[in-house]
Amino acid sequence: FWSAVNNEFNNTMTKASFDTWIQTTHPVEYKGNQIYLEVPSPLHKGYWENNLVSEVTDIASGLLNKPIHIIVRTTDEYASLDPTIVEEEVKAPVKDKPQQETHLNGKYTFDSFVTGKGNEMAHAAALVVAENPGATYNPLLIYGGGGLGKTHLMEAIGHYVLDNENDKIVKYVTSETFTNDFINSIRSNHQEEFRQAYRNVDVLLVDDIQFLADKEGTQEEFFHTFNTLYNDQKQIVLTSDRLPNEIAKLSDRLVSRFKWGLSVDVAPPDLETRIAILQSKAHAESLEISDETITYIAKQVSSNVRELEGTLVRVQAYSAIKRQDITTELAMQALDGLKVNQRTDITASKIQRKVADFYEITPADLKGKKRSKTIVVPRQIAMYLCRELTSDSLPRIGQEFGGKDHTTVMHAINRIQEEMEGSQRLRDEVNQLKNKIRE
Ligand code: ADP
Ligand code: MG
Repeated sequence: FWSAVNNEFNNTMTKASFDTWIQTTHPVEYKGNQIYLEVPSPLHKGYWENNLVSEVTDIASGLLNKPIHIIVRTTDEYASLDPTIVEEEVKAPVKDKPQQETHLNGKYTFDSFVTGKGNEMAHAAALVVAENPGATYNPLLIYGGGGLGKTHLMEAIGHYVLDNENDKIVKYVTSETFTNDFINSIRSNHQEEFRQAYRNVDVLLVDDIQFLADKEGTQEEFFHTFNTLYNDQKQIVLTSDRLPNEIAKLSDRLVSRFKWGLSVDVAPPDLETRIAILQSKAHAESLEISDETITYIAKQVSSNVRELEGTLVRVQAYSAIKRQDITTELAMQALDGLKVNQRTDITASKIQRKVADFYEITPADLKGKKRSKTIVVPRQIAMYLCRELTSDSLPRIGQEFGGKDHTTVMHAINRIQEEMEGSQRLRDEVNQLKNKIRE
């Protein structure tokens, strides 16, 4: 089981994440339908519970052919647990299962969702639907790229309905779960139960419908599920990574049904929204982290909120391991080497040559100690570009520039980042330089 998990994440995670989250974790025991894992810190535990447990549950359940519970505890927790209590404590949540098994993630609520330019519409529509399920936009389709909050918004609708009208039945599934449930129901001759489970609900949330592509039988069944719910004025909410008509091999009649309600997209967050998201996550985790550092982190990731969260978790982990407060410098170190798709042919000396040419000075000037403005600024730009275009660490960049301290490098980089905010000319120059270096 553990090697299957290792294999899976080795292929799907970056090496940095793999080292941080998987390598540090150990299987402790397999008992009944429970697998116990040991992690080094509460932080790891949190990360596991939010990001890994559900996938590992699937892997384990698949391998062992029965539903498995994954229990993650820290080394300290194992050390302090009375062995007789372990069993009691573990069994309790299984017995106390809420009557409705909604499969909703407790963290994905409207309260924890930060709105900004890219997601305002989707957020507003989701709220309308949550307040009056079945009565307005039906179906509501939220579409857009990965990690932009589609699942979060969809589950927020589920929570909202459950919190405000507790007689309502909410069901959340991914389209893969729907497919598997359907196939299993045929295999085991339980089609009636399947239909009950999907048609006897007030709100059906189906995540990632693009995976229905190509599955004709499942699409047919979903078509009937859809019609039944729609006719009963039950709310349907769907998400997809693209518009239904762009999903190849999705039947025309489903595509046309999906257009009946409202389709809203989620777009990547702008810098302001990214900062707000980081602030909200830091607050939720009671992290002490300055605005300057938050802004720095927000600038490192542009495309997607999941990655943005990942960087914060990484900084948090780094600070816990190093036992240091979170500063911009620590964040820089923590995020060091995270850049993917880096080209190996771009080196510090190549960058120095191109920058020197561009400003009509010499590489020796860049590595030297002269403090005249005509040299200092290009030097800072060159350092900044080393940071952007190579995976060199800060101390390493310092060495490349005649043995400067890594704090000097950090200040240079900050300086350029700040200047670029206010100066179109500097942004243009830096871009021109990047192109020349990449040529
Ligand atoms: P998608 O379903 O679009 O791939 P998710 O809903 O899974 O994306 O979001 C990825 C992660 O980013 C989740 O942890 C989610 O809570 C977080 N997230 C996305 N958008 C926001 C937002 N606007 N505010 C707060 N958290 C967000
Ligand atoms: Mg999703």
